[in-house]
Amino acid sequence: MRSTKEYYTPDLARLKNLSTEAKVIPLAEATALLDGGELPSLSLAEVASLVKTVLQDPGGEVTRLILEKASAVRRALFGDAVVPMAPVEIANTCASDCVFCGWRISNREMKRLRMPDDLILLQVDYLLELGIHYIEFVSGDDLTAVRQQLPRLLAETQKLFESRRIHGKTCFCTMALTERQYVDLRDAGADAMIVWQETYDPEVFRQYVTDGPKSFGIRDDWSLNPGGDGWLFRYQSQERALRAGLEVALGTMLGLNPDLTFEFVATVDHARYLLENYPITADHPLIIGMPIWNPIPTRSADLRRDDLPSMEQVFPLFAALYLLSLPSPATWVFPNCRVPLSVQVEAARVAGAFTSTEVKLGPGGYLPSVIHKMEMRGEDTLALRKRLATLLRDAGENVDELARSLDEREQFVHHYHAHETYLRALAQAGLQVVRGVRIPASPEAASTDGHAVAYS
Ligand code: SF4
Repeated sequence: MRSTKEYYTPDLARLKNLSTEAKVIPLAEATALLDGGELPSLSLAEVASLVKTVLQDPGGEVTRLILEKASAVRRALFGDAVVPMAPVEIANTCASDCVFCGWRISNREMKRLRMPDDLILLQVDYLLELGIHYIEFVSGDDLTAVRQQLPRLLAETQKLFESRRIHGKTCFCTMALTERQYVDLRDAGADAMIVWQETYDPEVFRQYVTDGPKSFGIRDDWSLNPGGDGWLFRYQSQERALRAGLEVALGTMLGLNPDLTFEFVATVDHARYLLENYPITADHPLIIGMPIWNPIPTRSADLRRDDLPSMEQVFPLFAALYLLSLPSPATWVFPNCRVPLSVQVEAARVAGAFTSTEVKLGPGGYLPSVIHKMEMRGEDTLALRKRLATLLRDAGENVDELARSLDEREQFVHHYHAHETYLRALAQAGLQVVRGVRIPASPEAASTDGHAVAYS
């Protein structure tokens, strides 16, 4: 275990050099690299070469080999199980300014909304009933939401788990915090945190994260740290959280930095450091996220670069390469709904032990589904619809209008399908969605202990 004063520090010169020096390799060389036993053991230089090779020829023979090998590793480590998660947005208000994000403070087109606790918990209850027991609370860099509302929601969700006899987990995704703040949120009921680094290159970070808490970091008293280094404060956040007793997630935004090979090996390097120095296990895994730069709902305020490469073709490949670079039951690759369902499912098939299914990315996003469900049970929803219309101020009480207005407040454009649709698509790919937050000990356990759902 590391001293509490030490933190991972990316060796930028070495990582950039690995990217520059990496060579596209032929099939025979790739086969030799990946043939070293059930679980591969790749150096960072070998990882860089494989990344470069698939980027140069995403439909080639090496690509097929990587997908096949990753799929076998996935089976060996996780059987056919995949753990579902869902984000629940608290507020789309944000004090930071990230060029790529619909919620950035400078986006005047975005209509802001902070959800009251009870309407958030109604959605949590809806997700638990679907069988999604890993709940991620999300907000922009909104100090009130994170300081005041998040601890209450964490505590109330733990009570919901208890009342439903669910062994669930709660997680939060918001600004990077101090160790003291992570301890407080753990004490309130949090199991895990998510912080996406966006980029391991400080210059790229400053180019795309231009103001607010994310730019500078914050202090224990929640004040902005003027002159602070938000990039450094962010990549050290996972270690502060681990020391506070939380599980963590990391990931770079694929495509933000044109040097994808650098970003990939930096992410692997960071993950390996955490795995070597902290008590990360199959029950307390490290999540490897795969955010990409999607368009935002307020199209006139979208600053997405025109020259961004499509990530759809390479998304399953990157998932596969993450798993081959970090082959462990304690490393869960996390394909998400930023890509179409078929691409997300393929990434899960070859590498993902953890995935989102039904996702809404704006505050209150699941409420139209909650209303539908209440109506199917014969319950009167007028009071709820009226209350929501009052909160939104730009929609009537009709559920379709409410849904349209809520969707306009999402952080970015993504792919939405009902949970059942994901279950079926994952089942067709040979995967079973676990009704819980752990991977069962064996595939047989998944189908016999009542903790998995299967569709034929
Ligand atoms: S990415 Fe996060 S911090 Fe940046 S603008 Fe969006 S919500 Fe705010």
